[in-house]
Amino acid sequence: MRITWENGALVEYGENKVAFDPNSGIPRCRASFVTHAHTDHSYSLRIRRIPSFSSEETMKLASVEGIRIGNWQPLNVNRGIKIDDIEVMPHFSGHILGSYEFEVRTPDGVALFTGDLNTREGRLVKPAEAIKCDVLIIEATYGTPEFVFPPDEEVASEMIRWASGVLRENKIPVFKTDAIGNAQEIIRIFNENTNVPVVSHWRVSRINEIYGQYMRNINYIDINSREASALLSSAGAVVVVPKGVNLSPEHRFTQAMVTGWALKFRRKSFPLSDHADFPSLIDFIERCNPKLVLTYHGGAYNEVLAKYIEKKMGIRSYPINLIPTNFKT
Ligand SMILES: [Zn+2]
Ligand SMILES: [Zn+2]
Repeated sequence: MRITWENGALVEYGENKVAFDPNSGIPRCRASFVTHAHTDHSYSLRIRRIPSFSSEETMKLASVEGIRIGNWQPLNVNRGIKIDDIEVMPHFSGHILGSYEFEVRTPDGVALFTGDLNTREGRLVKPAEAIKCDVLIIEATYGTPEFVFPPDEEVASEMIRWASGVLRENKIPVFKTDAIGNAQEIIRIFNENTNVPVVSHWRVSRINEIYGQYMRNINYIDINSREASALLSSAGAVVVVPKGVNLSPEHRFTQAMVTGWALKFRRKSFPLSDHADFPSLIDFIERCNPKLVLTYHGGAYNEVLAKYIEKKMGIRSYPINLIPTNFKT
């Protein structure tokens, strides 16, 4: 099989070629596979020229985010799709609702494309499954040894403690985060552990709705409701908004960011993430037991992670876009 990078990963066997998470202009290929609904991965769902495969959850989340779906085809976990000699088998990737990683089987061997991956036990999604493979194509968002997240329960307790303190001062705690994934985890933390109502921005509320359709109950009050206004005037709720949103200053808000990058921030923030931290990436690689690891999605960390894998794990590794890869078992 031949693995290359052209706005996304391409796996080729003979005349047959499929793309994974292409993020702009779709290369010439038979089909595209989308791991999850975040916009840097779901671009090809709008294309009509070739079929785009994803979970139904991913398609629904992408549509509610404003993508006009082109030529979508459904995928189910552990149910493979055959495109001639290439078989693509979806497994859970632990990142957000409906997110998959793809096991790609060819007569030359097996590749695993992770998309964004999380191996920790989340409140709403199953963790990523380590699949034995020959070539592992792994995301490197936190692909440097500095990124070690504290235990999830610890971060959750700190968030609750901080929010309670802010409320006691008669102010409103606001969490800024990804509208899909982290936002729902935060709301669940408060739902499961406190009686504090959660007000969510409409861009978060519409995602909560879809989580609800798949039996992930999110207890929230939409920010545009009368109930939310009353709660905000009396400083009786926590608020969850998408990262870029700035709330009107009429209420006394105290803000905190929620992201894995928090480890690098000086301002108030919490390192709750839907990605694997560095030790989790290494553990995942060990469990997949690949002969070759291609890194991607980590900018400069692609190189850092690949070097670590070669030096400390003794497995051949380099960034996927460095050179085309020809692999045969
Ligand atoms: Zn993502
Ligand atoms: Zn991503």
